[in-house]
Order: sequence, then structure tokens, then C-alpha cells
Amino acid sequence: MPPTSVAEHRQRVADLVGLMPVLQLPLEDCLGLVLAADVIAPLSLPPFDNSAMDGYAVRAADLGELPVRLPVADDIPAGRVELTPLEPGTVQRIMTGAPVPSGADAVVQVEWTDAGTETVTINRAVEAGANIRTAGDDVGKGDPVLVAGTVLRPSTVGLASALGLAELPVRRRPRVLVLSTGSELVEPGTPLLPGQIYESNGMMLASAVREAGAEAVRLRFVPDDVDAFHEALRPYLGSVDVIVTSGGVSAGAYEVVKDALASHDVEFTKVAMQPGGPQGSGRYEGLPVLTLPGNPVSAQVSFEVFVRPALLASMGHRQVERTTARASLSAGLTSPAGRTQFRRGLYDPASGEVVTPVGGPGSHLLSALALSNCLIEVPEDVTELAAGDEVVVRYLQ
Ligand code: AMP
Ligand code: MG
Repeated sequence: MPPTSVAEHRQRVADLVGLMPVLQLPLEDCLGLVLAADVIAPLSLPPFDNSAMDGYAVRAADLGELPVRLPVADDIPAGRVELTPLEPGTVQRIMTGAPVPSGADAVVQVEWTDAGTETVTINRAVEAGANIRTAGDDVGKGDPVLVAGTVLRPSTVGLASALGLAELPVRRRPRVLVLSTGSELVEPGTPLLPGQIYESNGMMLASAVREAGAEAVRLRFVPDDVDAFHEALRPYLGSVDVIVTSGGVSAGAYEVVKDALASHDVEFTKVAMQPGGPQGSGRYEGLPVLTLPGNPVSAQVSFEVFVRPALLASMGHRQVERTTARASLSAGLTSPAGRTQFRRGLYDPASGEVVTPVGGPGSHLLSALALSNCLIEVPEDVTELAAGDEVVVRYLQ
């Protein structure tokens, strides 16, 4: 069977994961999520004419000959609900954010007065409209103030709050079950016997799920035992949206994931990439299941290339790609024919757009991945690149 292309497998994974449902979520939980419907402003902002300064609400026309001394007829703190109209020839003391009384057309800041409370001496004139924040300055009632597809940031949830909205319609985060497999695996923090290794994919993939804005449920790991595999998943089948496994999908014996899912609607393929060739995808008890290879670098690169974009798309993100840049290689490298290679690199745009490969192509070289900040993408048909050649790099952060 010819290998599946990276693009084909990406599409298959994205189709499997699909779109998460839209929910009304409390603003508190909306940061980073994508707005699923336009928001029409239910009120204007500011909602009423209010003072931009601590000072005195006046009629600008009353400030003829300066300095002028006028009676202070009222005092308006922020939050005052009932107001008395401003009588000609008087002023009212007013605080920042307090409503401007009818009859007043300007505010004189306190610094231009003697700050009196019974009467006040005003030293400088103001124009009509000065220091008044007019209702609707910022947002008009009925304006489409936020559009569907907006990624909610601190400022946008702040705006929603200012509009009095306690909830917003968003696509919810997918709940992703992360399960590692391998009889050699041991939980960090416990003793290691010869032949065993500490389990690392689970923590790494669960973190990558969270970094993408989804929810991770990290199951520890199961040994290479088909019954243990099914047993581990069973309690979660009703509560998760996607299952991501690692390990047990290559060509050897004891390939637990392949064996366990052989009788399910899961397709195992070889994708034309390095690392991360052996991939599986399909449905397990109705749930999308993505089976990543076990080598740590393969697992993480597969997540980057296939799973992350699908999770982002499922939440309604339009931008599902990492930022890319063109850079020139600091050193040459080789790549297998017919496979897209993702090499780990360090890219510092400040240093003249040069990318330095970190470590070799080996998919067990986890520290090289941890020390890199980008993936260097070598196209399928390229087998050799020299120092100075241009490549595309994908930022990992
Ligand atoms: P597999 O795909 O199961 O054949 O595993 C390939 C390689 O990755 C083997 O050397 C495994 O020991 C290693 N490996 C698999 N799963 C994990 C894991 N969760 N953490 C660390 N290494 C792993
Ligand atoms: Mg294994």
C-alpha cells in the first residue's frame, strides 16, 4: 500500500474530530475559546454621559469673566442614580465616572479651581463638551460589537462584561483522553528496574492538549495487553470526546494498540513523514481515536502535525497553524526520499534568520526536541540540504 501523505492524514484526523458543540459559558471560562455567534451590544458604552475628570459640572457659558466664583449646588459621586438638573449660574461637584446632570455641558477639572465645596472659584474656561464622555462614544446599542470566530482574549471578555453579559456562546473544549502503552513503562517517581523506562509521552501529550486549549484526561499507561487496554478505556467512554494513544502501532510483535483496535473501525497507515510514520485513526465505540507512535519525538511531532490543528479546528479556531518563517540552515542535513521530514531546530530571527538543527533525525532524541523551538520542514522530494539553504520553520511556541 502506498504511504498516505501528511496532508491526507491531517484531513482525515480533522474530519474525525469534527466540531465541538456550542454552549453558553460563564465569561470566567471563556478565555482562549472562540465566539460562536455575533454579539450585538445590548446597551451603549458608556451607557450615559459621564465625567472624565474629578471637578465641577458647569455650563460653559457661565464661565465668562475669570476667575469666577459660583455656588456648588450639589455633589455627584460615581454611582449616583438620581440627579438634580443644573440651574444656570451654579455648578455641581462631580467625580470621574459620575453621570453629568442635565443642563451641564462641560466639566472643569478640580485642578483648575480652588476645590471649594460650598462655592468654588474657577480659574480657567472650558469649551462646551469638555471632559464629558458621551453615551455611545465607545459602542452604540445594537452594534455588532464582537463577531463570530473571535478568539476571546482578556480585552474581549472585559468588553463582554462591560456590556453586562455574564455568558458567551462558544464552542467548548474537547476532552481528550491520553493513554500510553508499553510493558516497559514506569511512572516517574517510582524505582526503575533494568529494561524499564520512565513514561514520558503521557505527560507530554496531555500538556500539548492543554496548550492547544483542550482538556486533557491523562490515564497513566497500560502494559502491552489487549484486555488491559480495553479495560482502561471503558470508564471514560461516556465522558471524553477524543482518545489519543501512543505506542503499540508499529510493525513488531506485541503491538497492543493495533491488536486491540484491529476489530474496530480504525485504519492503520504509514504516513510519508519522518518521524511519525505509523499512524492510526478511526472510531472506538463511536469516539474518534488517534493512535500515535510510541517514540517520544514521533509522538510529539505527530501531535503537532495532526492532532493540534484538529483540536483547534474543533473549537472553531480559524488559525490552526503554527506561525511559520523562512530561514536558512546553519548546517546541512539529509532527509529520506518520499517523506516529509520534521527536524528539530533552534531559530532566532534576531540572528539573521538562521535556523540551527538540534540533534539528529532519531525519534528517541527527546532532549533535542526539548531544547528546540521549531520544527524544520524538509519537503518529500528533498533528500539533501546544504548550509545556507532556505527552509520553512514552524515555531513550537
Ligand atoms: P512502540 O511504538 O510502542 O513500539 O514504542 C517505540 C519506542 O518508544 C520504544 O522504545 C518505547 O519504549 C518508547 N515509548 C513508547 N511509549 C512510550 C512512553 N509513553 N514514554 C516513553 N517512551 C515510550
Ligand atoms: Mg510499545
